[in-house]
Amino acid sequence: MSQPSQDIIQKAQHLRDQLNDWSYRYYVLDDPAVPDAEYDRIYRELQALEAAHPSLVSADSPTQRVGDVPLEAFDQVQHEVPMLSLDNAFDDDELRAFDKRVRERLDVSDAVDYVAEPKLDGLAISLLYLDGELARAATRGDGQTGENITVNARTIRSVPLTLRGDKVPSRLEVRGEVVMPHEGFAALNARQEEAEQKVFANPRNAAAGSLRQLDSRITASRPLEFYAYSMAQLEGVPEPATHSDMLDALRSWNLRVNPEVRVCAGVEALLDFYHGILEKRDRLGYDIDGVVYKVNRFDWQRDLGFVSRAPRWAIAHKFPAQEELTVLNGVDWQV
Ligand code: NAD
Repeated sequence: MSQPSQDIIQKAQHLRDQLNDWSYRYYVLDDPAVPDAEYDRIYRELQALEAAHPSLVSADSPTQRVGDVPLEAFDQVQHEVPMLSLDNAFDDDELRAFDKRVRERLDVSDAVDYVAEPKLDGLAISLLYLDGELARAATRGDGQTGENITVNARTIRSVPLTLRGDKVPSRLEVRGEVVMPHEGFAALNARQEEAEQKVFANPRNAAAGSLRQLDSRITASRPLEFYAYSMAQLEGVPEPATHSDMLDALRSWNLRVNPEVRVCAGVEALLDFYHGILEKRDRLGYDIDGVVYKVNRFDWQRDLGFVSRAPRWAIAHKFPAQEELTVLNGVDWQV
């Protein structure tokens, strides 16, 4: 393969710097500089450039990394199991290609069972329960190291402090998303405006800012909700065989799982789910930016494994950017 020209090398460097700067604003400062659709567009441009010239892929490329560095103001938590990101499909063809890759790798011709879930637009956290008691909560951070936000997570009512049930795991790490529902977001921004305080750009940004407070009384006053969507460590109880069985187990221990989650057989059922959720989107009461599909069988998930920053057994099917005019930081964003 030919070496990339100087122009291409510089272009890739420029895109990486731009994305890394935006990521820092988004993940560390909770103060996004551009709409997600713009970030995604530039990200794809970099991905295409790297695909055409693999020698351009550097360790600091956003295509190789998750999130950003944790804030030093919090104690740090080393994730025992890394908290990864998800690959994206932006249209039906990309989703069909994903399903084809999955079936080819697994060498199955029949429809694969997937779990389809709304892609909640908040921030990912990890909750560690020891003998049924909430022992630690952490943000994703850069995927390896997160922030210890235990005192703040304890203020969220949908985060159980104690698991329910006769047979609870001796060790359980649950992952899920913290979101701020629309109603609470509007009320919070109205209060902020009245008090001449910072108004939040969107519910995701408000949820992230609220959870990463040094004063947990502020977090407690913010309308945050938690939905569990995966498990990273489990000891002391039998391991479930599928993702859907795992979600049932989480529910049985009193963890909240999103009610829209469904098991779907094959890619056409995924597309039906996608269009159903897209149609419902405005009535859900919280922001979602797509749906996530995960291969249901855990043995198949293990066979499929991971690529650098994401599992091969899951994909996020993003919604088209909404036509709206957002005024943020004095800048008009036509998304
Ligand atoms: P992602 O948001 O595309 O996908 C991974 C995340 O999805 C997980 O970490 C989790 O938080 C979330 N998620 C929600 N529901 C889930 C479910 N049911 N199952 C599993 N995960 C679920 O990836 P990312 O790495 O968090 O962020 C990349 C996205 O962030 C980009 O697509 C971009 O839109 C946005 N971003 C925007 C800016 C900006 O400046 N506007 C900067 C950086 C990133």
